Amino acid sequence: MKAKNKQPKYVIISGGVTSSLGKGIVSASLAKLLQARGLKVTIIKLDPYINVDPGTLNPYEHGEVYVTHDGAETDLDLGHYERFLNIRTTKNNNFTTGRVYQTVIEKERKGEYLGKTVQVIPHITDEIKRRIRIFEKDDFDIILVEIGGTVGDIESLPYIEAIRQLQWELGKENVSIILLTLIPYLKAAGELKTKPTQHSVKFLMQSGIQPDVLVCRTEKPLSEPLKEKIALFTNVKKEAVIESRDVDSIYEVPLLMKQEGLDKVVLENLGLKKWAHKKPNLKQWIKFLDDLKNPKDSVHIALVGKYIQLRDAYKSIHESLIHGAAYNHLELHLHWIDSEKITEENIRQLLSQVQGILIAPGFGSRGIEGKIKAIQYARENQIPMLGICFGMQMTAVEFARNVLGFTNANSTEIDPSTPYPVIDLLPEQLEKKYLGGTLRLGAKTILLKENSLIHSIYQTNSIEERHRHRYFFNEKYKELYEKNGMIVSGVDKETGLTEVMEYIHHPWFVTVQFHPEYQSTVNKPHPLFISFIHASYKHAHNNKKLIPENE
Ligand code: GLN
Repeated sequence: MKAKNKQPKYVIISGGVTSSLGKGIVSASLAKLLQARGLKVTIIKLDPYINVDPGTLNPYEHGEVYVTHDGAETDLDLGHYERFLNIRTTKNNNFTTGRVYQTVIEKERKGEYLGKTVQVIPHITDEIKRRIRIFEKDDFDIILVEIGGTVGDIESLPYIEAIRQLQWELGKENVSIILLTLIPYLKAAGELKTKPTQHSVKFLMQSGIQPDVLVCRTEKPLSEPLKEKIALFTNVKKEAVIESRDVDSIYEVPLLMKQEGLDKVVLENLGLKKWAHKKPNLKQWIKFLDDLKNPKDSVHIALVGKYIQLRDAYKSIHESLIHGAAYNHLELHLHWIDSEKITEENIRQLLSQVQGILIAPGFGSRGIEGKIKAIQYARENQIPMLGICFGMQMTAVEFARNVLGFTNANSTEIDPSTPYPVIDLLPEQLEKKYLGGTLRLGAKTILLKENSLIHSIYQTNSIEERHRHRYFFNEKYKELYEKNGMIVSGVDKETGLTEVMEYIHHPWFVTVQFHPEYQSTVNKPHPLFISFIHASYKHAHNNKKLIPENE
């Protein structure tokens, strides 16, 4: 008989006062510190909205949709978790109220509740707890659970209740609660204000939960008397009132939290004192921070996309570029270029300052002509260019129009009656009834062509990368493209579908159907971003040698 797994400990992180306090980063940072002490950790994000997943949400509503290896469309916080922890999350690391209700309603339809009235308590809360405890079979020491939204929201109530029950069932020594709050600074009064924090804690207490730790986001340092006051009014030990000051880079937060003792307090609360005395191994992290903060030079990259006003829409791409730049000892200057605003007249002025151009993923027709112009500019002016997903598809369209002479070439996503459908719907998509969860999703094995640029970048014949798309390059045109220098240098192992196209009459022009940005982490920056940054810098400096060339 298999021995029963040990009981993992839980750390619950919820937020009060307001959203956007950086709960995801604090959670990922705490997880990092625990992991660095040798504990096996994972993090789950609970999202109290009704959508079954964020896949159908507009990026303006929600920011980027992060895709896991196993093909789940999830919250962008999972991207932070993977980048910080260098682990792979799964479809079980994120769930929404919609998903919880879907399961409960399906069970009800199957008659599994045996005639009972199905209710929020206990049925919805039981399903929330079941999903939280799914990882208990996997032998983790600590499972962190981040609850989206803020306490006090109506939609958060079942989650708070589920947590109260979980703590009651497993005991306080197994479930520690952190509340992240804001201590606003009132300029006119010249004072930091603790009242909103007091109210958030009161709300939690009314729901039967006493937070063990308060992480207080603040612009100004919290004085000792202020910490004492917060502690007194909230029933939290003074050492557990943790200051979280604004910092320049999210990658500084783990060290800041370590300095403030967040991980120690949590370990002590969970009865894991001996781990609190272990020295965390943050060597690689500190090396990365050092590279990030002490660049030898800078690199200017344009990110061409249509969601430029909302930078969260390109979170993973931005972070991957930061990783790639730090690896190259360069400071990243990202030029956010709105593809809708690109015209024949302004393109030179918009792009003449940059050394590399990244064409972003996307859906729908808005802003595509600007993307096509930027691709043409990069191709003709020999500027290093990386096209991702829609960026690859628009590159195929640009090439058809401007090199092959197919004037009205397009993707059938944009123009279903184009005479040259160089990008077309994946055949399996024809049967799909629903929009949610039906794209080609998750990791696939891709074979790389020897002697290609992409092969020299990855230095292997076979890679695994993640996907999120419905359209693909139309095989019918492949020969013509290749004859003209746009070669297919990576294909899906199973289906032969085009995964990588590169232009050989150019120093660095790579476009990919997959999303490399989902796999770049602090400990393992992605080779495609490293190479792209490297090529951009080199191109702009007439092949000047870069520092880590031999690393
Ligand atoms: N809209 C394109 C497709 O569905 C590209 C998607 C993307 O860039 N993620 O194929």
